[in-house]
Amino acid sequence: MKLICANFKMNLTSRVLKIYLDEVSGKIKDNVVFFPSVLYLSMFKERGYTVGSQDISFKEFGSLTGDLSVTQLKEFGIDYTIIGHSERREFYNDSKYVKNKVKIALTNNIKTILCIGENLKEFEEGVTLDILKKELDTALKSNLKYINNDNLIIAYEPIWAIGTGKIPTNKILTETIKEIKDYLQESYNLKLKVLYGGSVNLENIIELEKISLIDGYLIGGASLNPDKFLSLINKVN
Ligand code: PEP
Repeated sequence: MKLICANFKMNLTSRVLKIYLDEVSGKIKDNVVFFPSVLYLSMFKERGYTVGSQDISFKEFGSLTGDLSVTQLKEFGIDYTIIGHSERREFYNDSKYVKNKVKIALTNNIKTILCIGENLKEFEEGVTLDILKKELDTALKSNLKYINNDNLIIAYEPIWAIGTGKIPTNKILTETIKEIKDYLQESYNLKLKVLYGGSVNLENIIELEKISLIDGYLIGGASLNPDKFLSLINKVN
């Protein structure tokens, strides 16, 4: 079964989420992981869903105002975390911390969704693979002893596709995901799952499902509406 990650980002409130949870009740399979705001993790846990955090701190404890430690997050029952989302890389300089965050997550037995992706300029210049390899190297090189084929999952998210409604053609996506998988195998002897993220929606999911190399999806905007989300995940094999 493909892995489906619903990233709510900084959206929705407890009132709306109660309605959301009632609407999806009994219709969510085990392959779905919810990433709501940490404030609402327990609402999802109480209903028996698998949950993750949208980020973790690069340190376990300390004087880091506003940060959330993996140990604290584990108390809320997270099994997953996202690391290196492009929004965090852009606004919080996260590329600098990805290496430490991956180490902290994996040594605490938290499955890690590592986001990688090129921006529009890089895509147009044809340097996508250089960017992806660099981001993979930063996260993997010093952490190899903690990584196995189950605890690290790659989310390929072209930055220009996030929240824009644009996605790469199936041909480009197939080639890029194949290159990522080949690189992981050849350079690190790893066979990791690769998710696709970036404007996945009801209109494009049928085409995306034709790409057999995709192991799942990281879904932002289209996960916020319960009916749309249910229709979407019902189209995923
Ligand atoms: C994301 O931010 O990871 C994402 C995939 O968002 P969207 O689906 O809204 O493009």
